[in-house]
Amino acid sequence: MAQLAYYGLYALQHRGQQAAGIAVSNGQSIYVYKDLGLVSQVFKDDNLTSLQGNIGLGHVRYATTGRASWENAQPTLGPTAYGTVAMAHNGNLTNTTEMMHLVRRVSGTDLRGELGRGSSTDTSVMTALLGLEGSQAFDTAVRAAGAPAQGWDHPAEDLEAAALRVFSMLEGAFSVAFMDEKRLYAARDRHGFRPLVLGQLGDGWVVASETAALDIVGATFVREVKPGELLVIDEHGVRSTIWATPKPAGCIFEYVYLARPDTSIAGTSVNSARLEMGRTLAREYPVEADLVMATPDSGTPAAIGYAQESGIPYGQGLVKNAYVGRTFIQPTQLSRKRGIRLKLNPLREQIEGRRLVVVDDSIVRGNTQRALVKMLREAGAAEVHVRISSPPVRWPCFFGIDFATRAELIANGMTIEEIRESLGADSLGYISMDGMIAATGIPASDLCMACFSGHYPVDVTSAARMSGSDLVELMQ
Ligand code: SF4
Repeated sequence: MAQLAYYGLYALQHRGQQAAGIAVSNGQSIYVYKDLGLVSQVFKDDNLTSLQGNIGLGHVRYATTGRASWENAQPTLGPTAYGTVAMAHNGNLTNTTEMMHLVRRVSGTDLRGELGRGSSTDTSVMTALLGLEGSQAFDTAVRAAGAPAQGWDHPAEDLEAAALRVFSMLEGAFSVAFMDEKRLYAARDRHGFRPLVLGQLGDGWVVASETAALDIVGATFVREVKPGELLVIDEHGVRSTIWATPKPAGCIFEYVYLARPDTSIAGTSVNSARLEMGRTLAREYPVEADLVMATPDSGTPAAIGYAQESGIPYGQGLVKNAYVGRTFIQPTQLSRKRGIRLKLNPLREQIEGRRLVVVDDSIVRGNTQRALVKMLREAGAAEVHVRISSPPVRWPCFFGIDFATRAELIANGMTIEEIRESLGADSLGYISMDGMIAATGIPASDLCMACFSGHYPVDVTSAARMSGSDLVELMQ
């Protein structure tokens, strides 16, 4: 089981590089091993073989709430009235403050589980809520807080019922897998911001953030976990409960950047969507040039699409050091800047004297692209035309992508011409919103595009008010 979880995490390493963890249950007890670092750094043969069990759960983390510390690594572990729960969470709650106040109202200073051990993540708050479920004090506090009536008319009898009650109070993004000693559970928030899929492996079941992870562990894709659905998996198979009316708002940035190209989301191949974004970009922002190149790796399919549509040859203009993580995912400004220099080196013979179209998936702060344009000019490029396969990112994400604060976003308050100038490019073109949406093949009404449009599918007032440090303070 631990080996399988390890391979699954390896396949999903791009989703988080700060910490990794695996929990297993042998039917009696749950054991967790987690640490800061990449999957290959955290797990060795000895700690994997010590994790014996027939149910398992793994997680890779990058910080969206809470510090990048050991205490905040997942899976979380906590006691409940129905056994122990281990949880792995993809996404970000938008009402963590309210939920933490609820935990405080019941527990006072006597925080248990992960919160008691110094964790400051929304996942630990969810784990704590499951731990408080079943007590009279919690029931009273929830009612006093005016929480939704759904499922609260009778006490929860097991973890499944407790989870349904807790989920009904949560707002924001949560694709979660969790387990007790006997069962595995998987659920998605009603909007399905983050992907989650179900697969079958022999007579066992697998859930994962991306279909690529199913491929890599040898599982067959069965279906997506639906927005607002809870799956319970045990020796009797898979049981589904629709606990909320779905209001789909899948993250379009998964198609643009985050997911692996060999993954499919909502029936669309991420690679095909990126190719189409590149083709659209070539129609929307044509230019005379000698070579189309990508900012590897997530810009590659869009660059190929641009080349196909424009007829300009595609070539490799940069060599990527595959061992350096995704730049914007890293937590500090300093490591981000160093990361860019370490990550990409120009291939001089491809670049010298040529007019280049450089295709990238997005511009967040602009640091990568500015450094890149400079590098390409120093390597002898005649012209550098930057093409971006997503519209300008102008708004922060509260649903599990740690872009930046609004002030750090280069497109906030700058015109396209000012951004071009700041990057030092000869021209700059961003794909249109309609072009990006059409490339996914998903109706606009089923997508979240808030970081581009500012129209959030849920109320984010509380999340916007709460900076990371405020959150830590509240939890201490
Ligand atoms: S705000 Fe942007 S990154 Fe966040 S979920 Fe929506 S589309 Fe995705």
